[in-house]
Amino acid sequence: MNIESSFHSKSTDETLSLLKSDFSVGLSSEEAAKRLGEYGANRLNAKKPKTFFQKFLAQFKDVMIIILLCAAVVSFAVALYEGDAGEFFEPILILLIVVLNAFLGVIQESKAEKALEALKDMSAPHARVIRGGKEEIIEAYDLTVGDVIKLEAGDFIPADARLIESAGLKSEESALTGESVPSDKNASAVVDENSPIGDRDNMVFTGCSVTSGRATAVVTAVGMKTEMGKIANLLEGGEESLTPLQQKLAKLGKYLGFVALGACAVIFVIGLIAKMDILDMFMTSVSLAVSAIPEGLPAIVTIVLSIGVQRMVKRNAIIRKLSAVETLGSASIICSDKTGTLTQNKMTLVSAYKDGGEVEKITDSNSRDIAQVLTLAILCCDGTVEKDENGKETLIGDPTETSIISAGIRNNINKAEINSVYPRVGEIPFDSDRKLMTTINRIDGKNVAIVKGAFDVIAERCKSGDVEKAREITDKMSAEALRVIAVAIRELDSIPDEPKSEEIEKDLKLIGLVGMIDPPREEAKDAVAVCRKAGIRPVMITGDHVITAKAIAKEIGIFNEGDDAVTGTELSKMSDEELSERVTSISVYARVSPEDKIRIVKAWQSKGEVVSMTGDGVNDAPALKAADIGCAMGITGTDVAKGAADMTLTDDNFATIVKAVEEGRGVYDNIKKVVGFLLGTNIGEVLTVFIAMLAWQVSPFLSMQLLWINLVTDSLPAIALGMEAVESDVMTRKPKRKTESIFAGGLGVRIILQGVMFALLTLISFFVGWNGTGDIAVGRTMAFLTLSLSQIIHSFNMRSNHSLFKIKPFSNKMLNGAAALSLVMVLIVALIPPIATVFGLTTLALWQYAMVVGMAFVPVLVIEILKATGIIKQKEE
Ligand code: ATP
Repeated sequence: MNIESSFHSKSTDETLSLLKSDFSVGLSSEEAAKRLGEYGANRLNAKKPKTFFQKFLAQFKDVMIIILLCAAVVSFAVALYEGDAGEFFEPILILLIVVLNAFLGVIQESKAEKALEALKDMSAPHARVIRGGKEEIIEAYDLTVGDVIKLEAGDFIPADARLIESAGLKSEESALTGESVPSDKNASAVVDENSPIGDRDNMVFTGCSVTSGRATAVVTAVGMKTEMGKIANLLEGGEESLTPLQQKLAKLGKYLGFVALGACAVIFVIGLIAKMDILDMFMTSVSLAVSAIPEGLPAIVTIVLSIGVQRMVKRNAIIRKLSAVETLGSASIICSDKTGTLTQNKMTLVSAYKDGGEVEKITDSNSRDIAQVLTLAILCCDGTVEKDENGKETLIGDPTETSIISAGIRNNINKAEINSVYPRVGEIPFDSDRKLMTTINRIDGKNVAIVKGAFDVIAERCKSGDVEKAREITDKMSAEALRVIAVAIRELDSIPDEPKSEEIEKDLKLIGLVGMIDPPREEAKDAVAVCRKAGIRPVMITGDHVITAKAIAKEIGIFNEGDDAVTGTELSKMSDEELSERVTSISVYARVSPEDKIRIVKAWQSKGEVVSMTGDGVNDAPALKAADIGCAMGITGTDVAKGAADMTLTDDNFATIVKAVEEGRGVYDNIKKVVGFLLGTNIGEVLTVFIAMLAWQVSPFLSMQLLWINLVTDSLPAIALGMEAVESDVMTRKPKRKTESIFAGGLGVRIILQGVMFALLTLISFFVGWNGTGDIAVGRTMAFLTLSLSQIIHSFNMRSNHSLFKIKPFSNKMLNGAAALSLVMVLIVALIPPIATVFGLTTLALWQYAMVVGMAFVPVLVIEILKATGIIKQKEE
């Protein structure tokens, strides 16, 4: 089928017939499958994934690797010049080490990439489509040309489509047109063929979203053929940017690089003065520079972050940006919606009141008065409740409404029946800002508007009924943590075409109240307690009544004596300065609108706090963006909220945010462990060579030995350390400040102490071996074994700031494996004679092996002493 692109200038019928689709049936699934093959998946992927070979080559772009390759060329040239076959080992070995290192790099990179890919797929958008006459939800990738889709407020538009039918549709198209004010859309419009995209009022486009209204549309283009696809190539340029921590570490790497180069220059000069072989000196300096620079650090950090992301998925949190993992670790305020996040959103109606009567508990046989209140309330509900023969209820729709309908069923009031007797002739849907819902029904020949909603909103609009008594009852019910919904009516003279709130929802007659309970989630109380211990302040933000909100907040521990609970009205009277002054004492915000959330976020941020905020609707998007960590609801959330958020909670649960913070802290700890290990070992290597050169004008290592230790045996335990499980006490510390350095909490001192310790141990071994036998190869073998073995063993010290004997020392299986593999690699080059000879190593006497093994265990002793004396702090403040 040849598809042209000017559907905006065609009528809906023409469009459907050109696309060979049908408004009510859509495409058949066979036809859709066929077209999917023809047009390809609905993806914006301008970039081809890199092949293994391309990734492998990319590893050689690293400056240090290039220096090494130059060194290999120099040593090859010298070998050629000298004509000695033995001399060729060195360049070949350097090449081998570089290749092995590149392989490890590619494997690491692919792992991180896979995790990120999986992440993208998890947050893949969905589309509601009609196929074969049935409405289905499918992945947006599987949409094809001719598919009939349904759109409503909060949806992302999954493909370019021509509207077929629409009601009050508005779409935000800034991504495409730059226009941030939503444009009105209309299915019946037909526009000029050459009109610009912004004027095509009968079309919707991929990458834009629906801000209000609803529509049915037929897909006209998918993937790279959409308007967004056409500019996607322009947008694609940007690589995934580095997280703040990665940027800091990359900077640190550069800085250390200069220090290392300085040290190398000094060593080179000493070598020259001492008349050492220039080539040897050159090779030693180069390999030392390579050892000293933590060039692999940013890559390892990416891996650790992406492992954190995978762990969070298992705990029901889907992260959209790697940097969010870091930010989570320092979250200090968690602002959360109440209904469904802190509570179960399983409402049960427990009491009701008829104006002028008494409050009654809901039973199977309530009074006629209460039955009347229930009947009117049910007429103003959209949900349904079906009961099977075993009496099991299936609830569909808003829990507030299904609870009312269920109470009706108990009293033999059947929603379908009363709806046919008192048919609905008009409605104004519920929204969170108005907190009201209205239907107009024909009751006994009259047009009656039934309004239900938040009591305080209805009370303001009532002209008759005992509002004051109802207020007292509402307060009493609210104090018992009940949500109170008021029901009121008004007779209308005529049925308006488009009922408007200002005209209908006024001059009401109060009919009664219903009170429902929404129990807190079982895990909420514990999660709040964990927050408190972890120095995180939980805050409740809700559209519910202030007394209800406070009662629940008290029950789960969010509201303590002395805290404040503030309503949206009070909030609107406060200036931003006032709010930021009072914000620390407010634990509950009630009757607030989504727009208020942004003020609350900013007020906390002005105090230097790192704020997490939840949200689900279109109007929540700005607050989710403004928060340091925006959390969207996975179940009840709209696409727009999910798109604006950094994290989606697949179970809509407050406890999940707390678990994600715990993982975030764990990830940060692990990054610190990796940094501590790698920098400690690097400093050890540089110091060893530096001191030996100053003292004796010889290097304790040949270049290949250094490279082997650094590029092959160090990186394996480092990656495994990044995979440590979260330590059990992470949620007993205060959150780290956003600006805190990675070296805070004593890590800097620890790295230096470790470096000095490695240098001392290695120098002692070297000196004993060399001085005792007069053979420098013995000294070097002892130094090589001492340094590499002690580092491998030391990786276990880095697992925790607690004593190794308090944690299970071998519980990180990855580290056990990495340490074993590193050990084998060290032993192969040290103990297998032909290989050892190539590496300049030799066989030792038994006592020398024993001494080396003894020295290798010294770091455990030293670090345990440092841990026991508190020089290494068990717990960072
Ligand atoms: P959250 O804590 O997530 O903000 P909420 O359910 O209290 O939850 P909204 O859904 O915005 O917030 O509801 C605000 C108020 O509107 C409720 O407290 C209730 O009084 C009223 N309300 C909720 N649902 C309905 C409904 N279906 N019909 C009429 N009124 C409703």
